[in-house]
Amino acid sequence: MHHRIYDVIIVGAGISGSIIAKELCESGLSVLLVEAGKNFNRTNYPKKEIDANSQLYWGGGIELNTNADIGILRPKVVGGGSVVNQALLDRFDDLALDSWKDKTKINWFSRKELDPWYDKALSELNVEEIPKEHRNGNASIFIKGFEANGFKSAPLKRAQKDCAYDKGSDCIECLSGCIRDSKQSMGITVLPKAFANGLELISEFEVTGIKETSDLVRVFGKDKDEDNRIFRGKKLVLAAGAIGNSKLLLNSNFSNNSIGKNFFTHPQFMSLGIYDEEIHAEKGPFQSMKSDDPNFRIKSFKLENVFGPPVAISMLLPGIASRHLNYMKQITHMACIEVAVRDQNPGQISTDSKGRLKIEKTLDERDQTTFDNGLSAIHDIFNSTGAKEIVDGNFKIGLHLMGGLSMGVNPANSVVNENFKLHGHKNIYAADSSVFPNAPGINPSLTIMALSKKAAQEIKGDVQ
Ligand SMILES: Cc1cc2nc3c(=O)[nH]c(=O)nc-3n(C[C@H](O)[C@H](O)[C@H](O)COP(=O)(O)OP(=O)(O)OC[C@H]3O[C@@H](n4cnc5c(N)ncnc54)[C@H](O)[C@@H]3O)c2cc1C
Repeated sequence: MHHRIYDVIIVGAGISGSIIAKELCESGLSVLLVEAGKNFNRTNYPKKEIDANSQLYWGGGIELNTNADIGILRPKVVGGGSVVNQALLDRFDDLALDSWKDKTKINWFSRKELDPWYDKALSELNVEEIPKEHRNGNASIFIKGFEANGFKSAPLKRAQKDCAYDKGSDCIECLSGCIRDSKQSMGITVLPKAFANGLELISEFEVTGIKETSDLVRVFGKDKDEDNRIFRGKKLVLAAGAIGNSKLLLNSNFSNNSIGKNFFTHPQFMSLGIYDEEIHAEKGPFQSMKSDDPNFRIKSFKLENVFGPPVAISMLLPGIASRHLNYMKQITHMACIEVAVRDQNPGQISTDSKGRLKIEKTLDERDQTTFDNGLSAIHDIFNSTGAKEIVDGNFKIGLHLMGGLSMGVNPANSVVNENFKLHGHKNIYAADSSVFPNAPGINPSLTIMALSKKAAQEIKGDVQ
């Protein structure tokens, strides 16, 4: 057993864990941050796509739902999703926040109450739109197709600084960690400030159990040398993400029946349009435009202009041997658009008797209709811009993993209360993606940041 008793132990050094760590260290608290993944930086991110998948994600790159039709991408690295994600930041709109207020009965879910927290979160980052002159061929197809069909689009807002497009920088590789330190991931924004104020970080340490006594919380796990270790803290923050937090509480025999329920993923599906001319979606800025169409929002889907590195694209393409190869040869002629569904059918995370994960997640009829509407809009865009063939990807991807410890005032149908404490536990908190009560249909990161800032204020007040 480690001799020290920390003021706060945080499990998971992703977006929420890093921000809470920074806030608590700045106010003089002793904080231990433990993370299952490795601690990379711009000099040693895995160079090959396949190595990056296996070294930056759980499950060797991808995990699957029980039906094996949704590929779940769950980051496992110091910085969590901020290292591998696209850093697109959006505030929630009234539609999302009103539905949260309705579901949780928490009154501060409103733009008026949350805007100051969004502002505080944004003050730690640089956010840019991609300059028009640097938009790539994929973005041009997106814009033209939206115009041709009377759909509304808008530039994306992205947490980045100095991507050097004018020097020919191609940003597709930042999905494996940004080698320019341009993407505003936690390792270059908040974590250095936390370290300057005394943060202790242990990476490659997976927490496998939690025990709470009246005034202390113990976390158990194995370090990278496979040695069992126990750490003690006065307070514990669960910041292991939707799946990580649910798994940990279930395997620690926490009794709330709502743990693992209300799991959402914004299921995403990529479609490729193949053109006679070269599009070069892999060149320059990876993503610069999004749908901004009120009709899409009402119909619960959004479209984004995206692409993927070669292994990812190859997994979307049909056929084997020469048929598959023929598609891959046309990769520079492909444009790509993704539909993301604001899913309403909740999934469930559970564990078996050996503690292994089981992720049940399906699209019901409503979600399938939403999805079909989005796909139909993508086909309209590709057809109106002269695609000679449209290839709908092979499977859905879940990368906005939300819920499992959903917030609410009622302990009978929620896990975390309005003060970010687990119902019935005075020393355990969560404010990450696991507390989402439903799918907002909007990029989640900025709201995770805002909630984490707000939670840190509660925790400080409780410790001091
Ligand atoms: C490819 C990709 C692109 C994305 N693009 C965007 C985007 O553009 N905009 C947006 O808003 N969102 C995006 N997201 C989603 C966003 O990154 C996540 O919603 C966000 O990172 C969740 O933050 P979090 O703090 O809840 O968890 P995470 O950032 O996932 O951090 C959780 C951390 O906890 C660690 N952990 C888990 N279990 C344990 C354990 N038992 N012990 C120790 N550590 C543990 C994990 O290894 C992980 O590092 C994207 C995600 C992916 C994968």
